[in-house]
Amino acid sequence: MGFNGTDVFHRMTATQSSDFEQLVYCSDSRTGLRAIISMHSTVLGPATGGCRMWAYGSEQEALTDVLRLSQGMTYKASISGLNWGGGKAVILAKPGVDPQLQKTPELLHRFGEFVNRLGGNYITAKDVGINSEDLRQVKTRTPHVLGIDGQAGSSGDPSPATAFGVYHGMRSAAQFAFGSNSLSGLTVALQGLGSVSFHLMEYLSAEGAKLVGCDISQGAIARATEKYEIQIVRPEVIHDVACDIFSPSALGASINPESVGRIRAKVVAGAANNQLATPVMGEELLRLGIVYAPDYALNAGGLINIYHERMIEGGYDRGRAFDHVAQIAATITEILNRAKSEKIPPHLIADKMAEERVESARALRPSLCPPSMIGS
Ligand code: NAD
Repeated sequence: MGFNGTDVFHRMTATQSSDFEQLVYCSDSRTGLRAIISMHSTVLGPATGGCRMWAYGSEQEALTDVLRLSQGMTYKASISGLNWGGGKAVILAKPGVDPQLQKTPELLHRFGEFVNRLGGNYITAKDVGINSEDLRQVKTRTPHVLGIDGQAGSSGDPSPATAFGVYHGMRSAAQFAFGSNSLSGLTVALQGLGSVSFHLMEYLSAEGAKLVGCDISQGAIARATEKYEIQIVRPEVIHDVACDIFSPSALGASINPESVGRIRAKVVAGAANNQLATPVMGEELLRLGIVYAPDYALNAGGLINIYHERMIEGGYDRGRAFDHVAQIAATITEILNRAKSEKIPPHLIADKMAEERVESARALRPSLCPPSMIGS
């Protein structure tokens, strides 16, 4: 299906929460670059979010992805109390050609030039299909790149910080559901044993939680079982596992009409983005008496960590950044308490809290470019 300019404006303004500030289409036939940068909001600060490279089925699909992802970043930054807005970039890979061969230094440099032209209103980082080596290339053309592994002053791989935040948020959800934040003796079922889960298991086993998990990758299973005591089940039955906490930590839409009724946990708290296939699933969890720790509030540790690389005076300090990440515990407690008192499902309360913060900042900064920024 094709689309025209009218469709794009419609997509950018469909609802108040999906009121996108700016979309930038970047094209360079010399290097084969086709990219879209979406700055959903710069109300709280620069629109920040990773760059993804993917062979989309169509331009429409790429647009949908970049809009959805950049909007999600606004909510994640806002609920975490960060002075950042939400952005994202997608580079459209050519279908049928190995993306590794398409990611030439020239293409990545050109992308960096486009990012640089935005003058810091968009800050980029890693996402699916873009690694630290790619970011090093981008960084030769713009300083607005964060999270490059192994580079001095960089916050590096976000997974350990994400896991640390999930762990602290999980403890808050346990406090709410079981009356104690101790995970000792509780059974946690992990869907996906990748980077975040691997670090999360360290905290969980140290606290005496019992682990059950699954993965579609034998490598990920081997890595987990070599280091941790964990019972492995088939991916098809992970939702049926009798456990206290179900932790979706693989792909999105784990909580869907087919799986929701099978969950036997009292708490859902995991690292994956977009865990609810539809917002109705959040209402269904509430109806079933299952406490849901909203995904983007719980998994914001990586973003908080990277924030320290750019926004905190004195530069990146891991201890200070991780202390900040641990505050996810307080965010989850606030969401769950408000959800209870306002009788609204936690995923909707989280959205409300994130939107409230953006709207109060907007009232203070009504112009995109106040006179003070122009100078004389
Ligand atoms: P990862 O790719 O390292 O791990 C994901 C794992 O899930 C892989 O081992 C994969 O084989 C497995 N998997 C895929 N489909 C599965 C299925 N159907 N059943 C069971 N396992 C399956 O990713 P990650 O960095 O650990 O991230 C996990 C999730 O958390 C993703 O949704 C990611 O978007 C989200 N997240 C990650 C971070 C971060 O800092 N890495 C930050 C925020 C959110």
